[in-house]
Amino acid sequence: MAGKVITMAHGGGGSRMLDLLRETVFPALGEEVLLEAEDAAALAFPGQEPGSRLAYTTDSFVVKPLFFPGGDIGKLAVCGTVNDLAMRGARPLYLTLGFILEEGLSFQMLEKVLASIGRWAGEAGARVVAGDTKVVERGAADGMYVNTSGVGLIPAGREVSIRGARPGDVLLVNGCLGDHEASVISRREDFDFRLDVESDCAPLNGLVEAMLEAGEVHALRDPTRGGLAASLKEMAFSSGLSLEVAEEDIPVREGVRAFCEMLGLDPLFLANEGKLLAAVPEKEAHAVLSAMRGHPLGREAALIGRAAAGRKGEVSIITPLGSRRLLRMPSGEHFPRIC
Ligand code: MG
Repeated sequence: MAGKVITMAHGGGGSRMLDLLRETVFPALGEEVLLEAEDAAALAFPGQEPGSRLAYTTDSFVVKPLFFPGGDIGKLAVCGTVNDLAMRGARPLYLTLGFILEEGLSFQMLEKVLASIGRWAGEAGARVVAGDTKVVERGAADGMYVNTSGVGLIPAGREVSIRGARPGDVLLVNGCLGDHEASVISRREDFDFRLDVESDCAPLNGLVEAMLEAGEVHALRDPTRGGLAASLKEMAFSSGLSLEVAEEDIPVREGVRAFCEMLGLDPLFLANEGKLLAAVPEKEAHAVLSAMRGHPLGREAALIGRAAAGRKGEVSIITPLGSRRLLRMPSGEHFPRIC
């Protein structure tokens, strides 16, 4: 449409971004796999072991500041890509790394980011096997931007998909929501509020392996931009179900809650980088939840709600007083540059 321009909300992980994808990007490319809107595409490849598939994903990182409590742009780039692979039940294998560096960036800064990338790729069991470096003029990027692609293997028999939740499934999360966005925002120069919370940024593939070994998992989503709210809406919509979540069962740290109250934010809309939302058959819930709590990244795991064959895409939040409110898809007009 003439005159229409990109706004910050188009990158916010909410309804504006979905509009951009559905109305502009997907029609232009005409690729069925994109329409599935999964965290990673699951693809057949020549010579594959019968039943196994390739998982493939890509992501760009523009976080500001580059270093924040609990992480940095390098750790974020590795974890963001590894986690999108893990959300399909894939074992991460290979990563690529595209740097856009700004003239004047110190070698010290770049070396710190590279060390972090090496450390976290190793932690996730993935190898960085290809890359690219571009430099742009001073003022054209905030120090650096990073793009990563990742390839993983989905072993035969694993079928984890955002479309896979079923009526009666219970909904699990692996810990407190909102830590990442709250910690990044609180570190911006124009903020005086010192929040004693670190980003949750972490590679989730080990946790996902433990969950899949313990029992059946139908659907996974990592609640990054748009927060748990966007992941719940996407799962409800893609699986053709309604979801019901008890507000008081959603774990949120006291500091993050206070931060949200001060700024008039809802912790359910804050980005996470080491969290997942899972839909699991009720009979498997105990085993999977125990496996999560036995893993370092799932100690605060909680059962927060369930799925039903109600109205497609509807997500209800049951308040502590027992009333019910409908969750809306975040628009994306939140804080930019958080991942
Ligand atoms: Mg994702």
